[in-house]
Amino acid sequence: MERRARRRRISEARRRRSVVKKLRGLLTNPNPTTCEALIVHCIDFRLQKFLHAWSAERFGYDNFDILAIAGAARDYETIFKHVQLAAQVHNIQTVCVVNHEDCRGYGAEGTRERHSRDLNEARKKINAAFSHLNVETYYLHLDGTFELILP
Ligand SMILES: [Zn+2]
Repeated sequence: MERRARRRRISEARRRRSVVKKLRGLLTNPNPTTCEALIVHCIDFRLQKFLHAWSAERFGYDNFDILAIAGAARDYETIFKHVQLAAQVHNIQTVCVVNHEDCRGYGAEGTRERHSRDLNEARKKINAAFSHLNVETYYLHLDGTFELILP
């Protein structure tokens, strides 16, 4: 019994070291005070695995801020405050707003068209207030596919 528990602890420690090693390979930010992007996405647990992997691959694991709010683009006021702050204190250059399929933050209103409209509206408003920022909008499908939403 004791031996089995010890073996389990050792294999768990090995697994954790392997995860840390993989994450270290994704560290790209040479500057400890700034980062490249702010990623805005929903709180939904089903999508986090896709969002984290995509963000780390796209920008480097230590190179982006995260704002997780239910419905993402649905709450522009909250997005605005955080874009302003991230631009000011972390000198971000890019904002990615990611809405997703079957978002409970939208409920029955969450059609593909509605997500598109809200994402385009958020892009327009961010561009108007922060003309130096590059704004990208995505619709994330439940299978992990990131669909680029263009104006
Ligand atoms: Zn959601």
